[in-house]
Amino acid sequence: MKILVTGGAGFIGSAVIRYLINETNHEVINLDKLTYAGNLESLEKVASNERYNFEHVDVCDGIEVKRVLEHYRPNIIMHLAAESHVDRSIDGPGEFMHTNIIGTYTLLEQARLYYANLSPEEQPLFRFHHISTDEVYGDLPHPDDYKGELPCFTELTSYSPSSPYSASKASSDHLVRAWARTYSLPVVITNCSNNYGPYHFPEKLIPLIILNAIADKPLPVYGKGNQIRDWLYVEDHAEALVLVATEGKLGETYNIGGHNERRNIEVVNTICKILDEVRPKSSSYSELITFVKDRPGHDMRYAIDASKIKNTLGWVPKETFETGLRKTVLWYLENEAWWKNVLSGEYVLERLGVGK
Ligand code: NAD
Repeated sequence: MKILVTGGAGFIGSAVIRYLINETNHEVINLDKLTYAGNLESLEKVASNERYNFEHVDVCDGIEVKRVLEHYRPNIIMHLAAESHVDRSIDGPGEFMHTNIIGTYTLLEQARLYYANLSPEEQPLFRFHHISTDEVYGDLPHPDDYKGELPCFTELTSYSPSSPYSASKASSDHLVRAWARTYSLPVVITNCSNNYGPYHFPEKLIPLIILNAIADKPLPVYGKGNQIRDWLYVEDHAEALVLVATEGKLGETYNIGGHNERRNIEVVNTICKILDEVRPKSSSYSELITFVKDRPGHDMRYAIDASKIKNTLGWVPKETFETGLRKTVLWYLENEAWWKNVLSGEYVLERLGVGK
């Protein structure tokens, strides 16, 4: 099959493409605008494979999206392209509305027209997989101020997004369901918890803490660090996404999560402990922890009930939080060239043809 992946140069998209090239026989078309978050160096090990193709295209550009669809004639579209960082969405929501809402609308429209023109043999193979976040559900009761049994997000939880980022993703989910209902576009949707792992852009919590610790810089923790997130190793997510894209039931939504609820402060302390062990220095890395003013509207707890994907498609994550986090810390220690290039902005300069 041919699979078009939008946002394939990003953190999760590149994990999906590495998985598709290394573990399957599918052909891949990576459609990416290469924003600050898109980095082709994350695909270096698969880019020379003859089943890999790259198109430098903005998902909001309907003419270019149409050209790519007609040229490659994919069976599956996996839509990951998005602006994805909550703090950036608070500082400047415009780009989030444009890419996450208008971009999804543009892709849906082009997919609808493309699907309508497929032959009767090709049509049953086609599916549009929209990749989304658990943040669309808002937040959940926190154990510090709730005494009952703690609920998790299920596929039936009502939407209640808190940030411009999650509101834009919620909007895109609604658009996808509307295109399925109104135009009979064959879609599947996944909503996943926080990912972590190799090739993660250093503005996100886990890589930021690892790299600041290595550089002996303060480790910033919002508020008291009591916010709870449900962490999933990115390669487990990639495997789940390909399973849903190829075998998920059309019209269905699947929640994906790792059953790894951790307070942010626990995450930071665990990274410090791993570093104390594998890269010891005279004092513990935990002495670098610095509490900073909390993010406005900060969601207090996310937790995913992933029983539907487990019971219907047989997916369970391979990594526990401890094994995945150890792998991640070791990856950053062993892949200095990747993150040094990101921190210096060199990967962007190279793309623009600007010298060092
Ligand atoms: P990312 O920010 O690392 O990557 C986004 C990619 O999309 C980049 O390669 C970027 O260049 C590309 N892109 C941005 N705007 C584009 C446009 N207009 N046209 C084409 N390409 C464009 O994001 P990520 O963390 O890999 O997340 C991927 C998807 O998964 C997003 O839709 C996000 O909402 C969702 N998601 C992320 C997480 C997480 O923990 N990171 C969890 C659940 C869901």
